[in-house]
Amino acid sequence: MARGMVDHCLLIETKGGLVLVDTGFGLGCVRDPGTMLGPSRFVLGAKLAEHETAFRQIQGLGYDPADVRHIVLTHLDLDHAGGLTDFPEATVHVHGPEFRAATAVRTRSERMRYRAQQWAHGPRWMVNEIDGGEEWFGFRAVRDLPGLPPEILVVPLHGHTRGHVGVAVDTGTGWLLHAGDAFYVGSEIDPVRPNTPLIWRAYELGSIAGLPFRENRRRLLELNREHGSDITIFSSHDAEAFARLASSRVRPAQ
Ligand SMILES: [Zn+2]
Repeated sequence: MARGMVDHCLLIETKGGLVLVDTGFGLGCVRDPGTMLGPSRFVLGAKLAEHETAFRQIQGLGYDPADVRHIVLTHLDLDHAGGLTDFPEATVHVHGPEFRAATAVRTRSERMRYRAQQWAHGPRWMVNEIDGGEEWFGFRAVRDLPGLPPEILVVPLHGHTRGHVGVAVDTGTGWLLHAGDAFYVGSEIDPVRPNTPLIWRAYELGSIAGLPFRENRRRLLELNREHGSDITIFSSHDAEAFARLASSRVRPAQ
């Protein structure tokens, strides 16, 4: 694939330090892709560039990457967890079913998608075992994750992987929902004419569970239709949404 793939991370400034949602590919992936990504790097078609890593982007915003206290992961696929090694001091929040899927790999496809080298340094895991407590716009959501402000919610959206989640952030002036790989491009949740381009249908085949994937995407489409003015929903690999939102700065009210 000639096209480079965007990996949308989200940096949140809180009183308790910086919170990073997903890590994309890290410095280690750029410098030693063979070890950190393995053969899957050829499938992903990512153009690895050091200046695009979360670490360098955070520096570019004028922050110290060492101030990233918490990382919240949508899932542990190698294009989302690749930067964990750049933030060795951060607490890493991951949904229980996802943690187990990645650390006790059962299927061939899961052997391809998860890369244990990305957490061989032993991150401080915070495995969230609650399967969605509160109601959030019709979704079950996990609130009050240890160390995180209540404005950051985890929304279980399984299908792409066993424990895939979205991460919702109350910015004080509206919600952001980082939907990870629960869909791929904005046109899929277009309230008027939803459409999944052919190339992304191929990615959809990589879902661990196709039915829940499509059901959650349909629910996100409805969420967008009914609450699109209050919630900005975006996915990890949507280059257009990334370009539009990249300059946004988020400060949840505390
Ligand atoms: Zn992905």
